[in-house]
Amino acid sequence: DVITRFAPSPTGFLHIGGARTALFNWLYAKNRGGKMLLRIEDTDRSRHSDEAVEAILDGLQWLGLSWDGEPISQYARVDRHRAIAEELVKSGNAYYCYATPKELEAMREKARAEGRPPRYDGRWRDRDPSEAPSGVKPAIRIKASRDGVTVVADRVQGDVSFPNGDLDDFIILRSDGNPTYMLAVVVDDHDMGVTDIIRGDDHLTNAARQTVIYHAMKWPVPTMAHIPLIHGPDGGKLSKRHGALGAEAYRAMGYLPEALCNYLVRLGWSHGDDEIISMEQMIEWFDIADVNKGAARFDVKKLEAINGHYIRNGDDDTLTEALCAFFPHMEGGDYFEARKSDEKVRQLREAMPGLKERARTLSDLADGARFLFAERPLNNEDKAEKILSEGGRDTLSKLLPLLETAGDWRLETLETVIRDFADAEELKLGKVAQPLRAALTGRTTSPGVFDVIAVLGRDEALGRIKDQLA
Ligand code: GLU
Repeated sequence: DVITRFAPSPTGFLHIGGARTALFNWLYAKNRGGKMLLRIEDTDRSRHSDEAVEAILDGLQWLGLSWDGEPISQYARVDRHRAIAEELVKSGNAYYCYATPKELEAMREKARAEGRPPRYDGRWRDRDPSEAPSGVKPAIRIKASRDGVTVVADRVQGDVSFPNGDLDDFIILRSDGNPTYMLAVVVDDHDMGVTDIIRGDDHLTNAARQTVIYHAMKWPVPTMAHIPLIHGPDGGKLSKRHGALGAEAYRAMGYLPEALCNYLVRLGWSHGDDEIISMEQMIEWFDIADVNKGAARFDVKKLEAINGHYIRNGDDDTLTEALCAFFPHMEGGDYFEARKSDEKVRQLREAMPGLKERARTLSDLADGARFLFAERPLNNEDKAEKILSEGGRDTLSKLLPLLETAGDWRLETLETVIRDFADAEELKLGKVAQPLRAALTGRTTSPGVFDVIAVLGRDEALGRIKDQLA
């Protein structure tokens, strides 16, 4: 059975690139009826924090990317990593290296002077440990083959060969007794039964070194797939300004998790010309073999467009729920959160068909719904006040009695009353709608004014108009 894993380093949030890596791992596992495990690569204790781990778990949960079993802490497994390092020494595949920091620095210095990449010169490779200087704690280095090549058979990059001479006798256990990332990853992936490693292509060279460890342990090498990183719109490194943010930032901006997943899956993978792909379809169609090699470019406009599609086509109940769940995460969402009530939620649901027409994000929906949450008397924006003071209030004072005597408060009835009034007064509809909108919302933009007046309900709507005439 397929077992994939997502192995983030807890750096403070679930980075957008990490989210895509997780998505690919999750989709591949789901497609094959397998499992996705989660491993937190928390060995760097100086940078470790529980909040950073929480942020990753939250981000994954929000995106709907569930993992199997408990998250595994890499740090908790150091004893096992150490044991494997010792085992490699015993089997002759690794050795103690007593080179001092000074000696290592001299090696680097020499390489620099000769214009070649710094490399350990192998001085302890074949030396007898009895020659070890006293008082120096050794590191453990892998005894890599010096000729031939190590091939990474990658499902995205193809067969990639690395000359063994370039791989170096890299350290697997530091002199302070801590395993290196290179060793920990291999031991954990093996112990977790990982069959498929899917991660960013910045790990491709590591894959060659890790392959050396797998071979030395005589462990089967998992299938590897190194996916191209997400680049900025200019082809360079993805900058903060161009979208290199955490999942939580996208959540706070009002993106829907399914829209974000839809956008992310298309970065490097496609299914014909399909732009809108549901989670179910993704699971059905996704194959790592269809991921392309070329770097994917992040395009915020496209993400916005896809999100807009999901909002416009969203089910009204689901959107209402998503909007309410969004308030606590929204910048300035306290305003809504504090005023939320069953009645407001009911009104939101009623307003949703009108709200979603002009929204691309949940923030847009919230913004459109702001009028519902406002408290009387409203604080008019300048532009709205201008409309009211320049004739708007006169118009409303004539309209008010007609609204007060309207047969009911349904949208169609109100629309007829207002249109008939405009005709009778020989006013363009806009000349009535503008002051009405200003009085009902305090603003000059809102969902359709008939929607607004109907959704507010009779008492609130008439009250807001009277406030302006008082
Ligand atoms: N922790 C590594 C990272 O966040 C990923 C390691 C791996 O997937 O093998 O880049």
